[in-house]
Amino acid sequence: MSQYVVGLTGGIGSGKSTVADLFVAQGAGLVDTDAIARELTLAGGAAMPALTAEFGPEVLAADGALDRVAMRQLAFADPSARSRLEGILHPLIRQVSAERCKSATEPYVILAVPLLVESGNYRQRCDRIVVVDCPESLQIERVMARNGLSAEEVKAIMAAQATRQQRLAAADDVVVNDGDREKIVGQVKIRHANYLALLAEKLKASC
Ligand code: ADP
Repeated sequence: MSQYVVGLTGGIGSGKSTVADLFVAQGAGLVDTDAIARELTLAGGAAMPALTAEFGPEVLAADGALDRVAMRQLAFADPSARSRLEGILHPLIRQVSAERCKSATEPYVILAVPLLVESGNYRQRCDRIVVVDCPESLQIERVMARNGLSAEEVKAIMAAQATRQQRLAAADDVVVNDGDREKIVGQVKIRHANYLALLAEKLKASC
């Protein structure tokens, strides 16, 4: 059972997934709320009965998974659909992520939550918060390349997220991802050693 939880967050395209993978390569556990959301909405996923009951079969893809495009269109046409969707998904994500943090066998767990600063209730579950940070211009560049979106579309997503300043204000630690990958590898190694030391301190204090 992991005794130490490090919440990892950052704006879209800041490099959260990249940095999370580097922590895993060092030996950390990973609980990724985005991945859990995807699992819950696959065919047979735990959220599917409630989602089908709430929105009807028109949000189902042919294989029984959530049809993301249909769901997005519905949320666009009816703003209440988004909060109803979140009302179903978020409690399940909270429950599954808590279970996985608890059952992880690595010394500590990286709990990756894109909207950790915005959602509030994840913060109290974390012993520490690490923010992946880069200039907004780089976020836009990376997401345009990764998702094939226009600069305006990326900016609209960023406008719905916490600001860079708000995230940095919530951070205990910052991984600066404004250069090549080597630069983040070094920072992750330092943080990893630090989290193992903080875990040892926590265990000592609880004896
Ligand atoms: P997030 O999970 O925060 O949205 P990702 O880790 O997916 O961000 O990174 C966004 C994109 O930028 C990905 O395509 C990733 O491969 C790329 N990327 C991230 N960091 C770097 C870096 N330091 N150098 C080059 N490409 C990077």
